[in-house]
Amino acid sequence: MKYSKSLLLVLFGAGLFSIASCDEDDVPCVESVWYQDTDGDGLGNAAINQSACEQPAGYVLDDTDTDDSGTVAASGTPVSAFDDFNSDAVTISFDGDEITIESNGVPNHTSPYWDSNNSLYIDPVIANADQMSPGTIGSRSYSLTVSSDPQIASSSSSTGLGAIGIGISGAPIFNDEEGPNSSLSENVASGFDYAGGHMGPTGYHYHLECADVEENTTLSQDDEQLVGILQDGFLIYGRKCNATEDYPGDLDESGGHTSSTQHSDGGEFYHYHIINEFYVGEYILLFGGDLKGTPNGIM
Ligand SMILES: [Zn+2]
Ligand SMILES: [Zn+2]
Repeated sequence: MKYSKSLLLVLFGAGLFSIASCDEDDVPCVESVWYQDTDGDGLGNAAINQSACEQPAGYVLDDTDTDDSGTVAASGTPVSAFDDFNSDAVTISFDGDEITIESNGVPNHTSPYWDSNNSLYIDPVIANADQMSPGTIGSRSYSLTVSSDPQIASSSSSTGLGAIGIGISGAPIFNDEEGPNSSLSENVASGFDYAGGHMGPTGYHYHLECADVEENTTLSQDDEQLVGILQDGFLIYGRKCNATEDYPGDLDESGGHTSSTQHSDGGEFYHYHIINEFYVGEYILLFGGDLKGTPNGIM
């Protein structure tokens, strides 16, 4: 219970202020205006507010939420995620409601797929040299433009041969296809470097999660690190989720779910994870499902 303003004026006017109730609940307080936060992203809806001394449940002091409906934070893809990309290879451009990711495809980690004169060249750590594909890592050109607030489409889309996303190193992410109607075999995978990548006709690319080796200093391995962005604009993270610091138990068939991550400051948004299961042998595929959003071309 609190005093109405008129009652306070009466109390002051009558000189009775000093004998105002000794019940602490009745002591006048400083009221703040609180704004409704339906989606729980910490941002409030300016249109729905109430004044109170204490924070009412579901209300916050912020009044800047432009879309407080639904369970997904209105902020879309958290911009800070793009800080995790290799800036030597990847350029990110923000243009209103679109984000463009451009890359020269040149990763920032060691590999036996580098020319032996390159400082990042190493002898194979896990790759079976006989199964390594021909060619060495070189500069390419990839460009992907996605919505800054991608939505789940009414139907899923299967992925095709070639780049389906761009990894944080700048090298592209492929699915489980090694050629037309030819899915990845244990034999082919044995020629991959520790990063889960190899050379193809269009350049160096990843199929698998990075192996558990001490040589790896940049890529996700059984953790919650960002892996990259897929062509429907949704981010893909490692096998664990920052929201629970464990393997998420609520993934859909594409490995996606809606939760916060280390980039979203508590806001929830849809993202993929590497699914925590073996694909062939003991190899873990980066992404083998259908895209839940609308795919954009990777040029
Ligand atoms: Zn390949
Ligand atoms: Zn997650």
